[in-house]
Amino acid sequence: MAASYKYLFGPVPSRRLGRSLGIDVTPFKTCSFDCVFCQCGCTTKLVTERGEFIVFEEVCDEIGRWLKADGQADVITFAGSGEPTLYSRLGELIDFIKARTAIPVIVLSNGTLLHRIAVRDELLRADKVKVSLSAWDNESFQKINRPAPGLSFEQVLAGEREFRAEFKGELWLEVFLMEGVNARPEQVKKIAAAVAGIRPDKIHLNTAVRPPAETDIQPVAKEKLEALCGVFTPRAEVIASFSTTAGSAIKLSAEKVLDLIRRHPATAAQLAQNFGVDPATVSPFLEDPRLQIEVRGGEAYYKCR
Ligand code: SF4
Repeated sequence: MAASYKYLFGPVPSRRLGRSLGIDVTPFKTCSFDCVFCQCGCTTKLVTERGEFIVFEEVCDEIGRWLKADGQADVITFAGSGEPTLYSRLGELIDFIKARTAIPVIVLSNGTLLHRIAVRDELLRADKVKVSLSAWDNESFQKINRPAPGLSFEQVLAGEREFRAEFKGELWLEVFLMEGVNARPEQVKKIAAAVAGIRPDKIHLNTAVRPPAETDIQPVAKEKLEALCGVFTPRAEVIASFSTTAGSAIKLSAEKVLDLIRRHPATAAQLAQNFGVDPATVSPFLEDPRLQIEVRGGEAYYKCR
């Protein structure tokens, strides 16, 4: 993809989604949560009010140009450096895409605004929605997700349940587990009980393999995470990138590498896997002065400055 897009990134290869074109509709870093585990860093704008943060016509223009010039992706994903449902014209944007292409649309959301009918109505237009739940009560919710004032665990849980009842597409749910925070068996059981009430089609377990917002957050070991999959109904699957899974080869550019790192800090090996190239091909792009290194678990992760 040419470097002339402000709101689109990728397509990036994803194990679960295939080639995913990302759309980022919130400025860095606008979110209703300030999760201790966030890979984008700390939230600078903690809000629940929706807004037209980016000019609707500009992002439509980018999507139109991309469809004309490339248009090759397995999925179009609303994700990036904040909470996409905070964008007040998200529903219109999904309509815009669906009127022009058959590529499925997925929204990755923290689920905080799903207690609002208007937000649920907009998300119903997507093909897949992924929400999250990593706490089991209001105390753990405040500690882990550090929500915007006024948000409660019960409210988020009720919104996600309500959405499930209305949504005919596939609903995925991500649980982020951290050692010493929410990964004790009795804590995971409580999270699993709350998740079961939402009835997602798939459950993904993630952990802090990549550098999180708070550097003292520790990942759960792969074996333990795998053992915890069976606590969930339906059985969860581990999505944390502990291991190597080659993606399809994608032509590299400095902007593509930067776009990916901006949203997900990564090691050189992970970047090579993501792009389906060997590490030597990635190395020159990592000299970029806009990048810095953070060592985590003995591995050097590249982050944006
Ligand atoms: S992990 Fe997601 S929901 Fe949590 S602060 Fe980061 S962007 Fe927001």
